[in-house]
Amino acid sequence: MKTGQQWKQYFETKEFREQYEKKQPNLGILYTKEKTIFTIWTPTAKEVFLCFYPYGSEQEDREKKGKLPHYVPEKIEMVQGENGVFSYDIEGDCHGIYYDFFINVDGVVRQTADPYAIACGVNGSRSMVVDMERLNPVGWEVDGKDFDREEKTKCPFLYEVHVKDFSFDPNSSIEQAYAGKYMAFTKNGTTYQGQGKYTTCMDYLKELGVTHVHLLPTYDFGSVDEKGDNFQFNWGYDPVNYLIPEGSYATDPYDGGKRITEFKEMVMAFHKAGIGVVLDMVLNHTYSVDSWLNRTVPYYYYRQWEDGELCNGSACGNDTASERFMMAEYMKKVVLHWAKEYHIDGFRFDLMGLHDTKVMNEIREELDRLPNGEHILMYGEPWTASQTNMEQGFIQATKDNISELNSRIAIFCDNTRDSIKGHVFYEEEAGFVNGKEGMEDLIKKSVLGWCHRENGWKAKTPSQIISYVSAHDNLTLWDKLCRTMGHTDFTSQNEDILAMNRLAAAIVFTCQGAVFMQAGEEFARTKLGDENSYSSSPLINQLDWTRRVEYQELVEYYKGLYQIRRNFPMFSWRNIDPTSYITFHDNVEKNVVAYRIKNDTNIGYEELFIVYNGREDEVKLSLPEGRFVLLANGISSWLEKEHQIVEQEINVTKKSAYILGKES
Ligand code: CA
Repeated sequence: MKTGQQWKQYFETKEFREQYEKKQPNLGILYTKEKTIFTIWTPTAKEVFLCFYPYGSEQEDREKKGKLPHYVPEKIEMVQGENGVFSYDIEGDCHGIYYDFFINVDGVVRQTADPYAIACGVNGSRSMVVDMERLNPVGWEVDGKDFDREEKTKCPFLYEVHVKDFSFDPNSSIEQAYAGKYMAFTKNGTTYQGQGKYTTCMDYLKELGVTHVHLLPTYDFGSVDEKGDNFQFNWGYDPVNYLIPEGSYATDPYDGGKRITEFKEMVMAFHKAGIGVVLDMVLNHTYSVDSWLNRTVPYYYYRQWEDGELCNGSACGNDTASERFMMAEYMKKVVLHWAKEYHIDGFRFDLMGLHDTKVMNEIREELDRLPNGEHILMYGEPWTASQTNMEQGFIQATKDNISELNSRIAIFCDNTRDSIKGHVFYEEEAGFVNGKEGMEDLIKKSVLGWCHRENGWKAKTPSQIISYVSAHDNLTLWDKLCRTMGHTDFTSQNEDILAMNRLAAAIVFTCQGAVFMQAGEEFARTKLGDENSYSSSPLINQLDWTRRVEYQELVEYYKGLYQIRRNFPMFSWRNIDPTSYITFHDNVEKNVVAYRIKNDTNIGYEELFIVYNGREDEVKLSLPEGRFVLLANGISSWLEKEHQIVEQEINVTKKSAYILGKES
């Protein structure tokens, strides 16, 4: 039996690459009503057997024995083709049949589901043949026809939601059967406790004005038992079946078709609401190294150190090897499947720094070839959790290598995040809004979307930057502000912290780049200081819709900020060099940043004048020439309608942002 090191050396030989690393467009199943072709790539296998089952799990076999609708053949030996492929054709309509493989490599036989499966049984260990068309919900053929993807990507407002968090709280007034499920997104007209006053769920997202909802993992993951109760919780960064929706969010996880249909119902509901859908792709590691990929071709899909040990740059036990040809092909297949089959509008890549820039750029090109595909978003985390061992000649898609990435692949900008509110790993450390001195220069770079002219890392254009101060990882913005200010009661209101929160939001919404935030940031979401809630109770993780009512004024502030942003063309995402239209004022006090943005279009104000005051006292600033309309101050972002004119100078209250529009 070969060792890990021997496999690594074998996979990197010229002979292996030339013989086996070929494009294989039909891996998985090719379904028609007349026959289904099963194909699997396993160049290391001596023999491969295909097995069929009437049900999706062994438990169901036992419970439902004797009711088999089909004749079930025992292990069928698959036919070896060229380039490491095994295949088998089955006559007749196989829709609804479950299957897996037995693969003999080096004398060891491993049972495995199909890594290319597009449907599966409960908990995903048996793959399923499906006629995808038959599973489409009513109206799917016109899904997205009225959804203007191009318009939505002009000024993205990305809102990060976990499927269960969204509707788990009964105050959302989502019915019990749909609470925490895909189907919750299909409900319209929901209000807080059903009182008819404050919108919740989908109606709330419309009111807030988000352009895209970014869903935490929704592919089939392994950490939640789909047979178990709804009180289980996990973020889902533990992929099992990449091409299949997670079953615990479906109303019936046993019927492999249900999760597919309901997922599409959800996508359709988003598009009807004018909201795009972004999926979180965790292609950098698998739940366990004992994955379908590894059972199919041992070691091939995983990155190794020279001695054969598996890399662990993900800190999740393994790293996939994006630089290996068939892993890169697999990544493209996965992304394209969601884009084409589920009409997905964007992809977020977890630990993108573990992927190479070549594959990321190739995914971009593949998406661009789809109808309207150039408006499908791509962004990722430009870092790793630990070191990895990418093959020589490839470049990691990290922040330092951003210039190697297509200008329409964006990164989460941790510099902006940490400059505004303080470092995520040092809970007590503050940023510009909560009292740290000397942050002005970093805030200026954040404003420019890191397209500055100084030395050091920089983006090519603002379209490579995601500006944010909260995401699922680490403390919520509210909890972070409370922690740094020594405020130990996360649930009580606090005017000082609210002011800092508004200032943080105003900075994010006036930076170049795209705006991103964790759902509920706008109503002071708290997880009671839980900084890593990936497996905490849904009661900690859920969106608390009572806060959406209690913090309604903060919600309004965010809504107004986005309106200002959307109405001013220079915040749109495709601008080239922000230093050509942004000018900073040098003559200001410490902990104050002030600047003008000139508008080079005919739409909206001639220019904006923006001030961030991070100080504990009010400051007076002289304005450029002209008459300015006050659009936002530290309290309200809906001041435009009051048409309050400011000239020559302005007083900016402590811990606040002021936004003024110059009249033409
Ligand atoms: Ca699952």
